[in-house]
Amino acid sequence: MANEPLERASQRLAALALANVAPRCGARGRRSGEPCRAPAMRNGRCRFHGGRSTGPRTAEGLQRSKRARWKHGHYSQETKAENARTRAAVLLVRWLARGGRGPLSNAAQDELADWFADASRSGAI
Ligand SMILES: [Zn+2]
Repeated sequence: MANEPLERASQRLAALALANVAPRCGARGRRSGEPCRAPAMRNGRCRFHGGRSTGPRTAEGLQRSKRARWKHGHYSQETKAENARTRAAVLLVRWLARGGRGPLSNAAQDELADWFADASRSGAI
């Protein structure tokens, strides 16, 4: 029977022997100067000494990482560009309401050029 107490004990001892020969962490303690001796991971250090993330490895992982820190996107490149275009459009409309008199900001001039480009492409003017 696989569940006999004596057999379980020997299995446990075998597992313990394997665990005890696992590679050990060699980090030196700050106060004692002795090696840590905790079971090491593949990098040769234990979970306390050198187990930090080395960052995303793939483009997909990087995207996931960025997405995890994403809060609302109010300061994202896309939103900033959209807001800048909206401001320029408002300035342009105000300028047009003034009858085209007075200064026009560079951003509003660019917006005006875009409108003309769009309108001429679609055949509106
Ligand atoms: Zn360690």
